[in-house]
Amino acid sequence: MPTPDVAEGFVGEDRRRELVEAARDFAQREIAPYAREWDENREYPAHTIKRLGELGFLGLLVSEDMDGLGLDTLTYLMMVEEIAAADASVSIALSVHNSLPCCILELHGTTEQQERWLKPMARGELLAAFCVSEADAGSDLANVRARGEWNGSNWVLNGTKAWVTNGDVADVLLVMVRTSDDASSRARGLSFFIVPSDTPGVAAGKAEDKMGLRASRTTQIALTDVQLTAEHLIGEEGKGFGYAMEGLDAGRLSVAAQAIGIARSALEHAVKYAGERKQFEQPIKDFQGVSFMLADMATRLSAARALLHEAARAKQRGEGITMRASMAKLFASEMAMFVTTRAVQVFGGYGYMRDYPVERLFRDAKVTEIYEGTSEVQRIVIARELYSNHDYRRDWT
Ligand SMILES: Cc1cc2nc3c(=O)[nH]c(=O)nc-3n(C[C@H](O)[C@H](O)[C@H](O)COP(=O)(O)OP(=O)(O)OC[C@H]3O[C@@H](n4cnc5c(N)ncnc54)[C@H](O)[C@@H]3O)c2cc1C
Repeated sequence: MPTPDVAEGFVGEDRRRELVEAARDFAQREIAPYAREWDENREYPAHTIKRLGELGFLGLLVSEDMDGLGLDTLTYLMMVEEIAAADASVSIALSVHNSLPCCILELHGTTEQQERWLKPMARGELLAAFCVSEADAGSDLANVRARGEWNGSNWVLNGTKAWVTNGDVADVLLVMVRTSDDASSRARGLSFFIVPSDTPGVAAGKAEDKMGLRASRTTQIALTDVQLTAEHLIGEEGKGFGYAMEGLDAGRLSVAAQAIGIARSALEHAVKYAGERKQFEQPIKDFQGVSFMLADMATRLSAARALLHEAARAKQRGEGITMRASMAKLFASEMAMFVTTRAVQVFGGYGYMRDYPVERLFRDAKVTEIYEGTSEVQRIVIARELYSNHDYRRDWT
């Protein structure tokens, strides 16, 4: 008899536990010991990402028919948490690839595009990036200015994309540009293209010098007269904004899982340190001021995880998750700032030093409140959804 989870398309508890433990084992053995060094040197761990690709981590959500592992959303997010607890830079490189380009290609790509691009991506042979933001189109994504013009035989792309994760290390780019102007709506007329990064006219800028996630690559992508055949258009022309929003619902869950991983790691370090560090001849954990901080950190972490896992279950049941994804991302990212700030406090002066991991976790946490929609944007989404037809006694869709 399948368990109810399996009947709903979940992998089942035993298999999930195995996968999450395998992710934790790999993360703690192959990633965590090097995270400080990679951060310090702004070193992109190419070898580790390649190895993760070989193990299936670049096709976690892609169906088995498409050479992925075909995992349910909950298992995927628990694995992202494990990677993020070891190094948030590695988790973002993986989760952008998994939750945005892979999902959009699986949902909207043609069979030929899936054979040519999605299957090698899922097998870990190609790494992808997601290029939607521009210098003047961040929260206001409909303001995209990069253009794609059909010249009778090819699409010709021009423009500059900003802050692209995996920008200069990706093999393929999923790029959103404007292909037509519609006076009634700026969001109409945007389309996605799949662009191999070695196409003439594609150039990555210098790696951005960031506050955190210093081992992940973030670059501009300049497109100058990039010629693409019709087969590079993804889905329907003019539907790109909708595909981006659909992808971002999934992406926001991944960012929430990343924030939870960062916070969990900070809490683990803080609990251990508070048990060892003595002042006034006793461990600082025995001071109520410190123990209450730890209690609040643990409680918020658990609440964020519960919110995220419920959103994941709803997604797997096929329910709309726009509001829940925004709530999970908003709460988890603000929780990660709360927890990492207090972890630094528990460490006192040592927390401010690079010798201890909590200052990196604090720097890494900040971006979760910014990318894939800032906290203000999540509040806009949540508040807007409150005015559609919701039954407040039940959970949100
Ligand atoms: C490390 C990193 C990696 C990234 N990776 C990618 C990637 O792979 N692909 C990609 O396409 N993009 C990526 N981004 C871009 C990211 O998604 C944007 O930075 C983000 O959406 C915010 O846009 P912005 O920076 O233009 O800020 P703005 O939109 O200019 O916002 C500035 C401030 O104004 C507030 N604000 C804006 N509009 C409103 C409003 N209507 N109401 C209230 N407040 C508002 C914001 O909340 C924020 O506080 C990345 C960014 C970073 C930092």
